Amino acid sequence: MRVVMIGTGYVGLVSGTCFADFGHEVVCVDKNEQKIDQLNQGGIPIYEPGLDLLVAQNVKEGRLRFTTDLASTVADADVVFVAVGTPSRRGDGHADLTYVHAAVDEIADAMTKPTLVVTKSTVPVGTNRGIFNRLKARRPDLEPEVASNPEFLREGSAIEDFKRPDRVVVGAETEMAQKLMERLYRPLNLNRVPLMITGLETAELIKYAANAFLATKITFINEMADLCEKVGANVQEVARGMGSDNRIGPKFLHAGPGYGGSCFPKDTLALVKTGQDAGAPITIVEQVVGVNEARKAAMADKILAAAGGDLQDKKVGILGVTFKPNTDDMRDAPSLAIIPRLQSFGAKISAHDPEGMKEAAHLLDGVTWAETPLDAIKDADVLVLLTEWDTYRALDLHKVASLMRQHVFVDLRNVYKKDEVEEAGFSFSGVGVPGTNIGPA
Ligand code: NAD
Repeated sequence: MRVVMIGTGYVGLVSGTCFADFGHEVVCVDKNEQKIDQLNQGGIPIYEPGLDLLVAQNVKEGRLRFTTDLASTVADADVVFVAVGTPSRRGDGHADLTYVHAAVDEIADAMTKPTLVVTKSTVPVGTNRGIFNRLKARRPDLEPEVASNPEFLREGSAIEDFKRPDRVVVGAETEMAQKLMERLYRPLNLNRVPLMITGLETAELIKYAANAFLATKITFINEMADLCEKVGANVQEVARGMGSDNRIGPKFLHAGPGYGGSCFPKDTLALVKTGQDAGAPITIVEQVVGVNEARKAAMADKILAAAGGDLQDKKVGILGVTFKPNTDDMRDAPSLAIIPRLQSFGAKISAHDPEGMKEAAHLLDGVTWAETPLDAIKDADVLVLLTEWDTYRALDLHKVASLMRQHVFVDLRNVYKKDEVEEAGFSFSGVGVPGTNIGPA
């Protein structure tokens, strides 16, 4: 099938490449000329493990190409996907549909025959029906076809997630749309992936419900971690005990500095707005949004407390600034709130991240970016493990201690055991683990 993917970002580039790898003929379109030039020269504009090889192979085999010219590609496509960004609208938290609508209008103008337009972007309930009406109004000569196909891939394991999803959700209400989507995803039949066909509104809401539920799970265990600290319990064991129950499951029960990234913060906020507008407020998610926001400031306060209440002119070495490992995505990373608050306490920040420093340097002022993890730690008074990249998981703690001025270790991801850190001469502060020492050793 001939597939056009509009928007060549984290979702569009991965989805387009994987569809090409299934054997479809794919053109990825983006407005950003620099991105398309880089792709046409064999580069990859984002960091996603394994993507470089998969892109190269499919380009070489002639199934994948990149262009800025939307009009000419849409004319002979069977299916056109919209995978552009839907950030929070400034001021009110609703999903900003400007990019989606602009892309749909361009598609409408370029269509030469009835073509299926599929929204892969995360969009609020009612958007796809609105797209149908928009296409119809703009092209009364053609009967529009739309489908909603929300994407559930995770950055860092995006290729595996796309190729072996738990399910594929398709909102499609006509036979043509359903048949085309079934054909497109047929290669997944081999892995017995369920293809769930629903109405448009249901598909849209499944995506928000899933993200809001996961964000709630994270926020639940984070509050449980706070309680553990007060009463001397261990949140990792609480999570293991809870998560072993099949009805609950172990995933998304890792206490930490709060959720971030390109999806959970904006999608929880957008769902809250949708619920309020519809007169069916999702109050549990309203609470989750507030608790998560407050948590980032609380994590900076935790670091201050671990340093004995004074960070004036202290050097804080930070390991990891992306919102999670294996991505260079800095959108809504907790570091963007934690680091400025530490600076407001007078701290000097030196930081390292394997892939995120280039983007982070645009977003964070006054940070010294280190070439290696040990450079970030050298002469520091406090060490903070903020994002659990593999490369930070087996630090030689004695060597780290020998490089530092004072020995305070704040592990916001609970990677290290209190005993081993203390044995190396540090005072240790984790998240929801008992016996955390406060104050420099
Ligand atoms: P992104 O910002 O990485 O990519 C969007 C791309 O669209 C950009 O390259 C931009 O230049 C391009 N674009 C915007 N308007 C365009 C137009 N009119 N024509 C051509 N290109 C245009 O965004 P993303 O992270 O890939 O997210 C895309 C959508 O997928 C969002 O709705 C997001 O919520 C959803 N989603 C993201 C993830 C994720 O992990 N990133 C996962 C699931 C769903």
